[in-house]
Amino acid sequence: MPSRDGRLYKHELKELIEQKKSEIIELKTLYKIAPKCFKNDPRYIARNKSAVIKSPIYGWIKHHWSYNTEDATDIIFLKHENHIRVHSDLKYDPESKYYFGIYDTDILLDTKRKHLRYIVNIEKRRKEYREKYEAV
Ligand SMILES: [Zn+2]
Repeated sequence: MPSRDGRLYKHELKELIEQKKSEIIELKTLYKIAPKCFKNDPRYIARNKSAVIKSPIYGWIKHHWSYNTEDATDIIFLKHENHIRVHSDLKYDPESKYYFGIYDTDILLDTKRKHLRYIVNIEKRRKEYREKYEAV
């Protein structure tokens, strides 16, 4: 919420931080009072299990290739912007607790190797997809 000249002033930053803090507290309360079904969500469990793992590179985000309990701590670290990118091209499958790649929906990414291969080639897949379906 930068104001006037577009700069973010110290007191505004403080306000912003306070606002974020209260949002986090709200989320934490939500988790505590969450219905049983939510607490049993494999994604919730995996996030909890991996909470102790710290990112080796400051600011990098934890990404789960699988939400199966045995893979809960097997994590991929991604830059925030790449994480968003990767998720926009993945579809979660609650039944298997793995992801599908949206460009090959018939292929379940059920090993870390397959998942990694898919996300490294996302740009290439996007390009191929565009050429195939949006060609004149
Ligand atoms: Zn992720």
